Amino acid sequence: MKVTIVGGGLTGLSAAYYLGRAKPDWHIHVYEQAPRCGGKIQTQRVGEFVVELGPDSYLGRKIEMTDLIMDLGLGDTLVSNETGQAYVYDRGTIHPIPGGSIMGVPTEMMPFVKATLISVAGKLRAGLDYFKKPYPLDVNGDVSIGHFFTYHLGQEMMDKLIEPLLAGIYGGDIYKISLLSTFPHFIQVEQKYGNMVKGMMAAKKSHKKAGVNQGAQGIANEGDMPRAGKDAVKDKEFERKGTAAQSGMFRQLTGGLESVIDAIVAQMPSNVAIHTNALVSHINYSDEQYELIVQGRVEKTDKLIITTPPATYVDWFCHDAVFDNLRNMEQSSCAIAIMCFDKSTFDGELQGSGLLITRKTDTPLTACTILNQKWPQTTPSDKIVLRVFIGKPGNDVVERYSDEELSQLAVTEIQRIMKFSANPEWVKINRLIHCMPQYNVGHRSAIKKVRDHVKENYPNLYLIGTPFDGIGIPDGVKQAKALVAQLVENN
Ligand SMILES: Cc1cc2nc3c(=O)[nH]c(=O)nc-3n(C[C@H](O)[C@H](O)[C@H](O)COP(=O)(O)OP(=O)(O)OC[C@H]3O[C@@H](n4cnc5c(N)ncnc54)[C@H](O)[C@@H]3O)c2cc1C
Repeated sequence: MKVTIVGGGLTGLSAAYYLGRAKPDWHIHVYEQAPRCGGKIQTQRVGEFVVELGPDSYLGRKIEMTDLIMDLGLGDTLVSNETGQAYVYDRGTIHPIPGGSIMGVPTEMMPFVKATLISVAGKLRAGLDYFKKPYPLDVNGDVSIGHFFTYHLGQEMMDKLIEPLLAGIYGGDIYKISLLSTFPHFIQVEQKYGNMVKGMMAAKKSHKKAGVNQGAQGIANEGDMPRAGKDAVKDKEFERKGTAAQSGMFRQLTGGLESVIDAIVAQMPSNVAIHTNALVSHINYSDEQYELIVQGRVEKTDKLIITTPPATYVDWFCHDAVFDNLRNMEQSSCAIAIMCFDKSTFDGELQGSGLLITRKTDTPLTACTILNQKWPQTTPSDKIVLRVFIGKPGNDVVERYSDEELSQLAVTEIQRIMKFSANPEWVKINRLIHCMPQYNVGHRSAIKKVRDHVKENYPNLYLIGTPFDGIGIPDGVKQAKALVAQLVENN
């Protein structure tokens, strides 16, 4: 049996690893277009710095990633993030994110009453949610995150708290992103209790009764959070801002995320062949076999697993309109500027894990993580490292500017926002164009259409990865493991 896996990111590699182990007599080939495996996961290790150029960590409760790390023997290199207060920067002022909220939804009265971020009028409007009825969902039971939370909690809460938190995760337009595909738990809570505030309060109470000591975090954990926050700023929201130090919810490895890629490649079973610099340009299905064009060569395979991002389908299955559901999926762009300062010359104040920036603030920056405070093991003790996110809907600097210009922009903007004048010793830019699939309203039904169609018309073709069931690192590993279990059961 010959199995081909397209894409050598973590999803493709974990599919190969688990399948290779489960089926030692199958011949498995992984085709990766780049000279290296790992896809978006990329760690730069220079001297004592361990800097992530793409994803920064993963949500620990999503156990598939931790299981993989344990299987690879890297368990003793796992670390959790440091916890602390996170902040929101809104048009000139920095405010602590109020405690007692989950993804910006209040569950406790006092922290919100005291919060400086939201005006009295904004707080009153949010409180009115107590009397609101459920949002009228569309025929698929879906709604955008933006419309749902604006309806329940008002525009100010949306702009200052929920949008910076949630739009940051997807890097997209919050008024387009599907609640059903990202945080369906909020729909369930609303349907059960009538509105968000009542629902979150009731859920919190029941957790207290049941003795769940992490309070609102427990509720958050029940939701289908698609992935860990992109940086410490989001971490704080999941953890309830302002609470005393708990063990962080996010996981990293002392060797960086890329140490997982190195280990999985090194420990790949002998029946798996990994081909790098191997672009798959065409895929055809005929005579119950798949035919791939790989760097101009024709390769045939009995089973085909595709793990690549949605845009890759532009070149594949072109005659089949159902795949337009994948081809047409939007993908947002962003750039990450990582900058290092010497502690002795840094003239700013560094508090907590970092800050989120509201979309209404006139800057292309969306967030900044203080890396040496979130993940101290990544940075020498005499250095400060900031990870700044650039790029929001309607602003195309990420695509237009050169690396030099982006670097200059990131430094001057973060100096202005965080009020310091020290210059960095070095800046590293990673530009991620069309990197994040957007689960817009209707995503779930579109994906179901593709899946049903493939099941019916393309035997032995399996589609997994970021277009489907979650955009986070553990979501890809989970999909890979589930697929391997299905293949093992049926063969
Ligand atoms: C800026 C950013 C920050 C993120 N932060 C986090 C985070 O903190 N935590 C978290 O959990 N997740 C985060 N994510 C998401 C995370 O990066 C992804 O979930 C994960 O890397 C996806 O892995 P994958 O293997 O499915 O896809 P990818 O990593 O995209 O791998 C797909 C692979 O397919 C290859 N490929 C594409 N086309 C072809 C072709 N035609 N032929 C052959 N090979 C091809 C690509 O080169 C690539 O290597 C972030 C993503 C971005 C963009």
